Amino acid sequence: GTNYHERFKNWLTEVQKNDWMPSGAMTDARGDRSLRPHQQKNRDTYLHIKERLDDGIIVSGVKAHITGAINSHEILTMPTRTMGEEDRDFALSFAIPSDAKGVTFVFSRQTNDTRRLDSPLDAGNPKYGIVGGEAIILFKDVFVPWERVFMAGEYDFSNELVETFAGYHRSNYGGCKVGLADVVIGGSYWTAEAHGISKASHIVDKLTEMIAMAETLANVVKLNITRMVYEWMRLAQDIAGGKIITLPSEKDLENPQIGKAIEECFVGKEGFPISDIIKMLRLIENMSVGAGLPEAMHGAGSPAAQKIMIARRSSLERKVDLAKRVAGIKEDKDFDKITGKDEKTYWQETRKKIEQKMVQIF
Ligand SMILES: Cc1cc2nc3c(=O)[nH]c(=O)nc-3n(C[C@H](O)[C@H](O)[C@H](O)COP(=O)(O)OP(=O)(O)OC[C@H]3O[C@@H](n4cnc5c(N)ncnc54)[C@H](O)[C@@H]3O)c2cc1C
Repeated sequence: GTNYHERFKNWLTEVQKNDWMPSGAMTDARGDRSLRPHQQKNRDTYLHIKERLDDGIIVSGVKAHITGAINSHEILTMPTRTMGEEDRDFALSFAIPSDAKGVTFVFSRQTNDTRRLDSPLDAGNPKYGIVGGEAIILFKDVFVPWERVFMAGEYDFSNELVETFAGYHRSNYGGCKVGLADVVIGGSYWTAEAHGISKASHIVDKLTEMIAMAETLANVVKLNITRMVYEWMRLAQDIAGGKIITLPSEKDLENPQIGKAIEECFVGKEGFPISDIIKMLRLIENMSVGAGLPEAMHGAGSPAAQKIMIARRSSLERKVDLAKRVAGIKEDKDFDKITGKDEKTYWQETRKKIEQKMVQIF
């Protein structure tokens, strides 16, 4: 036994008391994916323990794509995959303040990210982000006191930790993406209205398809998301039209010589201000062309990772066992309980009744 759970609860209490936001740093850089952590040429491709001291551990390595890392108070790390015995030093979980000595953040670039610096209209979604702002976290000889260490070498628990976390994370990921679907479905319907096509049967069909997909996201949410987000965005682009990638900039629209003339290109149905149409098209562009798509593919794990987990947790043996019992290939204690006798006796009696025409088979 260890006191990791107590330590984790103490840390969580501190997080809640101080209203801190922790970033979840699970994904290691991972180098050559065909090699296990200890086999990597550069050990830093996975976060690992370099030294064990009396009062804590020294860690080094890289965590990648960590959402909200820069605007979080704390970093909570955990292993990215199941570890074997030789990966002992990589089976690691701890929490440290984001500004701990030896931690460096490298902020990710995203498609069109500088548009935010050009103008709010060009940004498309100026108030909110589609993706949370990811960063690479470089750990260089970072000291972590023991009271903040929640796993340090217990490789045989890494699978359970990874799968428990992924199970929760992947289901809440579904709720998050359905919220996103609401916005893009609303935006598409609105655009169809603005263009006078909202009653066309193929538009109604496409919108219904988008809504149905959103409502279907259930148990295997994340796996569905890797496909459905692309599908929503494909349909949203279909409904919105080509303008979503050919709109002029805010500066062009404000240009005294050409501004009014180009605005006219985007006129829609009466009652829909041109400026609103442009805002909505920019929003659909922002949601359907940018970083949101690869985020839906890889955030919370690639489709293959989810399929592996689904397969691993599918209890196929139990299903085979059930089928065998139902088919009568294997002893069925439940049937014995229902009939009040063992199955062999039950069928012998039944066969006799059939021979004696005491039962009728329809
Ligand atoms: C926007 C965004 C936000 C994210 N936020 C976070 C976060 O907050 N915290 C966090 O911890 N992580 C985060 N991630 C990381 C995310 O979990 C990873 O991107 C995901 O697990 C895929 O890993 P990868 O990007 O290294 O791609 P890879 O693992 O390299 O995947 C690329 C392809 O290689 C395949 N592949 C990989 N390994 C193998 C193998 N051994 N054998 C066969 N095929 C293989 C995959 O199935 C996939 O098809 C985020 C990612 C994104 C894109």
